[in-house]
Amino acid sequence: MDNLRPRLDALQAQSLYRRRRLQDGPQQPQARVDGRALLSFCGNDYLGLANHPDVIAALRDGAQRWGVGSGAAHLVNGHSRAHQALEEALAEFTGRPRALLFSTGYMANLGVISALAGRHDTVFEDRLNHASLLDGALLARARLRRYPHADASALHRLLKIESARLIVTDGVFSMDGDLAPLPELAALARDAGAWLMVDDAHGLGVLGRDGRGSLDHFGLGFNDVPILMGTLGKAFGTFGAFVAGSEELIETLIQSARSYIYTTATPPALAEATLVSLAIARRETWRRERLAEWIERFRTGAARIGLQLMDSSTPIQPIIVGSAAQALAWSAALEAAGLLVTAIRPPTVPEGTARLRVTLSAAHTAEDIDRLLAALEL
Ligand code: PMP
Repeated sequence: MDNLRPRLDALQAQSLYRRRRLQDGPQQPQARVDGRALLSFCGNDYLGLANHPDVIAALRDGAQRWGVGSGAAHLVNGHSRAHQALEEALAEFTGRPRALLFSTGYMANLGVISALAGRHDTVFEDRLNHASLLDGALLARARLRRYPHADASALHRLLKIESARLIVTDGVFSMDGDLAPLPELAALARDAGAWLMVDDAHGLGVLGRDGRGSLDHFGLGFNDVPILMGTLGKAFGTFGAFVAGSEELIETLIQSARSYIYTTATPPALAEATLVSLAIARRETWRRERLAEWIERFRTGAARIGLQLMDSSTPIQPIIVGSAAQALAWSAALEAAGLLVTAIRPPTVPEGTARLRVTLSAAHTAEDIDRLLAALEL
């Protein structure tokens, strides 16, 4: 396969080559990466639950009870009482009749969009939506129309020209940290007779009352946003994803979402662990309060040293650097100072907007934030 080499060489030459790092322990904040101790600011464990002793114990006890693997797809014999209990807890948490677990967020997005839209439908998506949402529309073979980022008036104009089946947006944008204009999108969807789907991977656990997410932050409910997708590998610190909505939505997904039907269910022990982390995330409001404090501390400090931040009030605090080569150089300089902040480059983000995607966690300390700021000042 030597003819693949030029493509790899071209990526190298453009500073776009992707490399994995070897982790030797928990993800953050104190990480061991490629053999070095680094203070990490690039995970999505916003509430610091990934290493919580009760969550770890639930996983271990769950493995004792259920074994490690689920053995089969949910529709064969992989659907356990642990999965069922987690679905019920997620439905209650999100204030919806039902929820359905998917193995990953990527698969949930593929499954929902391809089950609800087809070749003759148009799906409108924010230009900066997560890749899995864009891929979902491609898999559905629907007409994909991307509207300018967070621009409800542009979407309004587009909806006058073409009717929509689905309008799809991130709740919190994964690489920018800003919020979608959900009240405006909900009103547009209602007027257009389209379904609104929100991927709240980065809002759930973090925003709203008891971490109920972006919808709750805006005071929106089930009738405004009929399709809510959430992930479990970020604020909840475990793994997997879910979709919450009406009885009819969930039954439709069970009957026809291919990424639900044709894959092995996640381990039941993982569902046990997530049940515990969900309860802690809801109950321990101090985690959200601390996170808000660190966001404020970071933004104030960054403004003081003249860093250009984005309009984000969430734990995702990107620093736009520009070229991919510069982003790699900044990331390497931070690493030399003992900090891990990965560079995010095109095609994950638009050309010319390569960035350091700083993410904050309730597991960080004030000293950790100050150490990052001091390193960024150099
Ligand atoms: N949606 C968004 C907005 C995300 O940031 C991610 C994770 N990168 C996903 C979906 C995919 O979720 P998962 O990692 O569980 O596949």
